[in-house]
Amino acid sequence: MCAQMERASADADCKGTLFVVATPIGNLADVSERARATLAAVTKIYCEDTRVTKKLLNALSIHVPLERADENILTNKIPHILQELEGGVNVAFVSDAGMPAISDPGQKLVDAALLAGVRVEVIPGPTAAVTALAASGIACNHFYFYGFLPRKDGERLKVLESMAAIPGALIFYESPHRVAKTLRDLAHVYPGRMIALCRELTKLHEEVVRAPAAELVKHYKNQEVRGECVLVVSEAASSEEATKTWTHEEIKSEAERLLREDESISNLAKKLAKQTGISRNEAYVLLLKIQP
Ligand code: SAM
Repeated sequence: MCAQMERASADADCKGTLFVVATPIGNLADVSERARATLAAVTKIYCEDTRVTKKLLNALSIHVPLERADENILTNKIPHILQELEGGVNVAFVSDAGMPAISDPGQKLVDAALLAGVRVEVIPGPTAAVTALAASGIACNHFYFYGFLPRKDGERLKVLESMAAIPGALIFYESPHRVAKTLRDLAHVYPGRMIALCRELTKLHEEVVRAPAAELVKHYKNQEVRGECVLVVSEAASSEEATKTWTHEEIKSEAERLLREDESISNLAKKLAKQTGISRNEAYVLLLKIQP
């Protein structure tokens, strides 16, 4: 059954509704009127850290029971939450900040609710990724949100390399302690691109620092980065492919791919040299060596 049908069938019975509510990412005034009314009206609110959400509820003078359902325990709690919803109870789900399900728990609960024919209503609101994108001034007709990069150096580089050809801006969440390392890797993989480091958005010390990757690396080399950070990377200029560093394995597999084209070795050597930056002679020799 498609999501639309699951939702439509849920409207007709007396099940409760799961409200997925976005909360501010720093500035309390960003809580929407609808979010406030919804949180005040539900029977129970599931959240990540009850202390964090309690602060929000206190500020809004809302007194609704809270129950912890963070990433580690949400999966186990889903059957119980569904039971409540199926019994006609309206519940809300919030994360510590921003939009649930965006680098936060929530997606599995929504999926389970839709599969169970429970109505899901999202109360939209702030999310750091889109706020950073708008604040960066970087062309964003198309963009790709990645979220948190892997912590291990090798894995992080692999992910960044795999994203080099994405036709749009890239958005990453990053902890302040790892920003310097991530900037170093961004400068390595995307040398020519503009990067915006968007810090503490919507808060007192909000800051957007924009510069080519290598300059940002220098800027933050001896300077501690504080607060919450989003990195926005501009799309590759079409000439950037030539600046990518190709490994021997990558050159070989590109050569093998080109050899499947019905063209002379000499033409293929020109193409391979242009794409990978090796000399035409080297490309020619490699193609001759590996041709079937
Ligand atoms: N669900 C949230 C959202 O909608 O943006 C994201 C939660 S994720 C666990 C937390 C990360 O979001 C932070 O480490 C940071 O990268 C980013 N973030 C959240 N609030 C931010 C803010 N005010 N300024 C900059 N980045 C922020």
